[in-house]
Amino acid sequence: MSNRLGHIVVIGGGGTGIATMYDLCRRGFKVTLIERGELTSGTTGRHHGQLHCGARYAMGDRNIARECMHESEILRKIAPQAIEYNKGLFVAVDDEDMSYREQFIEACLESDIPAQEIPVPQALNYEKALSVKIKAAVVVPDGTIDPWRLVISFAAGALETQNAQICPYTEVIAINTSDEHIDSISVVDHTNGEQRTIDADLFINAAGPWAGQIAQMAGIPLQVAPSPGTMLVVKGRMSNMVVSRLHKAGDGDIIVPQRGLTIIGSTQWLSEDPDIVRIHEGDIPFLYESAEAMFPGFSEQKFHTAWAAARPLYGVSQDAEDVRALSRDFAAIDHEIADKIDNMVSIVGGKATTLRGMGEVATDMVCKKIGVEIPCTTADIVLPSHREFYKRGYHGN
Ligand SMILES: Cc1cc2nc3c(=O)[nH]c(=O)nc-3n(C[C@H](O)[C@H](O)[C@H](O)COP(=O)(O)OP(=O)(O)OC[C@H]3O[C@@H](n4cnc5c(N)ncnc54)[C@H](O)[C@@H]3O)c2cc1C
Repeated sequence: MSNRLGHIVVIGGGGTGIATMYDLCRRGFKVTLIERGELTSGTTGRHHGQLHCGARYAMGDRNIARECMHESEILRKIAPQAIEYNKGLFVAVDDEDMSYREQFIEACLESDIPAQEIPVPQALNYEKALSVKIKAAVVVPDGTIDPWRLVISFAAGALETQNAQICPYTEVIAINTSDEHIDSISVVDHTNGEQRTIDADLFINAAGPWAGQIAQMAGIPLQVAPSPGTMLVVKGRMSNMVVSRLHKAGDGDIIVPQRGLTIIGSTQWLSEDPDIVRIHEGDIPFLYESAEAMFPGFSEQKFHTAWAAARPLYGVSQDAEDVRALSRDFAAIDHEIADKIDNMVSIVGGKATTLRGMGEVATDMVCKKIGVEIPCTTADIVLPSHREFYKRGYHGN
């Protein structure tokens, strides 16, 4: 599978890998995407589903906040079928939250996020289950994403170009290198146990929290900190907006309505292995208690489920206290420059909200590496429905 521009293998069928495949295909590359499970079976299928406008990050990093605002506006335009634009409400619950309010609004405005304080009675009118004790409320342009539909729309868009081949249940088990160059990858097909090798001109590591393990197979040290967090879900839709605590980003301070359910998240710790992400003892009572501060009665809702997933944070952290200090930004790394492997790029970190932008940056890097200039079009083209993916099947036929 090759053409004038060449054949690229993307490793990882989460939001990052699929958005990267989509952009590469739109620019004319032939792409094979390798995913060890079902598409979105990594962190992408297991996050809150908040469309981040960036307000949560504005105090810590204006650039990340601006990037989220920019990408969330694009996603609302190109993937309306996967987004409920219900907006977000940051609420102050105590005096400490109140002391944070002015700087928070200022930081949002400096990040081009139109944050607007509204009177408390108006907030209580919007959200009937909200605590009557809240002291202030700020509206921001957050929303709810259907994580699966969003990403599968990108996959459908890639298949539409006829440049994509998608291989689920196919795990990379070795990367075969010689003379500072990747010749091929060895994979096992979990549907029949067969092993084979796949060669390509260039390989993109988009394996999220597993990206460090993939890089290691090529002898490359890549600093990815798998940082799991727990989310708790109750039945019933307690809010219509995404409701966040108006304080420094921390644990248990985001409530996201997803269809007829309400999710509170999350907690955060470090794990050496992204496959070991068990819910920590104490997380569930902690999340109930945190939700109660914003929505009294949350604990009386019927329990639906709880799970943990690992963030793919780029960088290293020595202890759990430090995890929040790790950047939520993403990085594209050309391993020719960093590690003397001439045909591998890694794209790691970021958010589900920034998937398209990550795909654009990774594809720009590929174009630069091979010396072609092909503009990105993914911000302007409305994606096909996720349903198109199943009409075409994994191979686009
Ligand atoms: C608790 C929590 C809450 C979050 N909430 C939000 C939110 O509300 N909004 C938001 O925007 N972001 C949120 N995020 C962040 C977001 O979920 C991630 O940034 C994003 O999903 C990462 O996508 P990815 O494609 O990089 O990684 P993944 O989705 O993990 O994809 C990597 C893929 O690589 C595959 N893979 C691994 N090893 C191999 C191998 N050897 N061979 C083949 N395939 C392999 C995996 O199976 C996986 O599917 C949250 C994250 C967490 C942990």
